[in-house]
Amino acid sequence: MAPKIETVGQHLYYAYARLGQCDAAKQKGCEKYSPIHFMIMNKLYKGLNTGTMSVRSLYDDEKLRMKVPQACYYCGSRESLSLDHLVAKKMGGSDDPANFIYACKTCNSAKGKKDLFEWYQGKGKIPPLMIIKRYLKLVFQYAEAQGLMEAPIENLSDLETPFRLDLIPTSYLDLQSIDYWVYPEDYDGERIGAAEISVKK
Ligand SMILES: [Zn+2]
Repeated sequence: MAPKIETVGQHLYYAYARLGQCDAAKQKGCEKYSPIHFMIMNKLYKGLNTGTMSVRSLYDDEKLRMKVPQACYYCGSRESLSLDHLVAKKMGGSDDPANFIYACKTCNSAKGKKDLFEWYQGKGKIPPLMIIKRYLKLVFQYAEAQGLMEAPIENLSDLETPFRLDLIPTSYLDLQSIDYWVYPEDYDGERIGAAEISVKK
């Protein structure tokens, strides 16, 4: 049963717990969720809420970033890459290195200042797991810095944020349609299948 979500913080924790659930299943190459994945999600959600667990720092993501090939995060192209703000600058995204990803010219201009989920929704797709993870961490950083974690969820649509909080998925992430990472077609190096998302203090 889904927990009662009352604050922005709980909304984000639940989204992160879903991510952990999906990550755990993906790591094992599961095609369907099993009871263990539900347990992982519940434990994660509870732990985040009570403060016994925390969202892991972006440091791990940075380490991972050094392992993957330099290519567009959105489509895997290696052509005309530039640095793109994951959370659009025009919408209030920061110049923090964590907010930069590689994007090809085509994706960069197609995304424009749109929110990540808004853009993917328009394409009828869901962003790769690793992008959602990074994005969510940026959202956490922002929500914590702005003191939004305790804000009531009912006011969600009134909140002026650089992201569409309402589009952050808290339902099941479909294992069939979500990728871990978008690799260039010609890439034959090591692939991430077990990027740890576990949350320990
Ligand atoms: Zn691209």
